[in-house]
Amino acid sequence: MTSLDPLADVPLPALPARESLCGLSADRIAGWLSEHNHPAYRASQLRQWIYGRRAESIDEMADLPASLREQLGDEFDLFTGRLARHQVAGDRTEKLLVELTDGKRVECVLMRETRRWTVCISTQVGCAMGCVFCASGLLGLDRNLSRPEILEQILRLTRRLEPDERLTNIVVMGIGEPLANLPALLGALEEVHAEDGLGLSPRRVTISTVGLPAGIRQLADVGRPYNLAVSLHAPNDELRNRLVPVNDRIGIAEILKAADDYFERTGRRVTYEYVLLAETNDQPRHARQLAALLADRNAHVNLIPMNNVKELNWNCPGEPQTQRFATILDEAGVATTVRKKKGADIDAACGQLRLENLGNDIPQPTETEAG
Ligand code: SF4
Repeated sequence: MTSLDPLADVPLPALPARESLCGLSADRIAGWLSEHNHPAYRASQLRQWIYGRRAESIDEMADLPASLREQLGDEFDLFTGRLARHQVAGDRTEKLLVELTDGKRVECVLMRETRRWTVCISTQVGCAMGCVFCASGLLGLDRNLSRPEILEQILRLTRRLEPDERLTNIVVMGIGEPLANLPALLGALEEVHAEDGLGLSPRRVTISTVGLPAGIRQLADVGRPYNLAVSLHAPNDELRNRLVPVNDRIGIAEILKAADDYFERTGRRVTYEYVLLAETNDQPRHARQLAALLADRNAHVNLIPMNNVKELNWNCPGEPQTQRFATILDEAGVATTVRKKKGADIDAACGQLRLENLGNDIPQPTETEAG
């Protein structure tokens, strides 16, 4: 495992023996077709099968000549990963555990709401940020995901959609810190936005960060109106240092400054994520401190009642405590939403499914007192 330094160079995977067809860029597809003496218009047919028609196999691409399908099959797999586990919750939330070519595993989730289909994807194997309430942070960071590995999660989940359902939103809130693997993420998102890709606007994509100011500024430099979600989880540095250890090298003030810059440069209102942990960060004084931090900002708070994780000692606050917290923020003029639990009967907290399947000894978190 690598160190806890969020800005350290992190290894990428070795190139797999066979490439993923779904992971090829438009340029690579065009180049490959030209090298193999196929007409250029085959590229748009191929991309249509990958993105619009959600092909499950190369053989299914019926309007491509058999010789082309055979050549593609000789060199490429549709996906290079393997589906290790698939869970479906009572509310039809679906969670996939994908095994990558080096045996590492990542998870991704499809959530269904009325006329809204959202996928949540991972960007790293493990995570270096070490948030004490998070299953993913328990085992540290292993490596970054590559661009095709990130894209594979999205495309596998689109294949779970019914014919009359379509992808409407992407949240980059799965395992890992997205801003610590930004080039690979942005590469995958280019296919998401492309007209002949998934055709989804950047406004439909939310990128979540623990709050790396340099990464937030890099994201603003990209010039696309992505939604930014900052996982704050505490209203003061003393408490945040305990819950989100990377904070002791950054501090809340720097994070808010970078988030303010992001809003000024992109015009996108920043969301602050706040996982409510019973008896830890859910008290009225915490709500008042949070309100004081955010009241003069164009901010939105997303309160997330903790998903109980059996390996961790944190608990979900009761409904009255959650409502009391939300009311204090509302009364201070801070727009607040309490996130609905999706997939409560599957392992829906990030990292849980991977953790369960690793079978490792899980280190226990230390007790944290209220700040
Ligand atoms: S909550 Fe997010 S940033 Fe924190 S350890 Fe888990 S995956 Fe990493």
